[in-house]
Amino acid sequence: MRHCTRPECDDQVRYRSRLCVYHDNELACKVRRNVRQEVIEILGGYCVRCGFDDWRALQVDHVHGGGSAEYKKKGNMKVYREIIAADDFTGYQLLCANCNWIKRYKNKETKGEKIRVSEKA
Ligand SMILES: [Zn+2]
Ligand SMILES: [Zn+2]
Repeated sequence: MRHCTRPECDDQVRYRSRLCVYHDNELACKVRRNVRQEVIEILGGYCVRCGFDDWRALQVDHVHGGGSAEYKKKGNMKVYREIIAADDFTGYQLLCANCNWIKRYKNKETKGEKIRVSEKA
């Protein structure tokens, strides 16, 4: 029986991994977060509409729409890596979660999802 290689962790290891399920997830999570943060930095680090700058609620948005279809097809990580690798990322911008939903609603990208945004501010 093999065990997790992290110090003070002797959980069993499944498959070919060197880490237990918990530590494996933790590692994957860290990598994912770093790539996301890198993309957010490249794109300026704040919401282009309202200036919100907490990366945890910032989302990479396609300026011309259609982003959710691309994300669905390739997965977030692939899209992020492509942005990092590309010299030209003018097709992308940062929006905070609020502005992104409002934009989607206005562009009717919500496709049957039941979202109501009050126009009375
Ligand atoms: Zn472990
Ligand atoms: Zn915003």
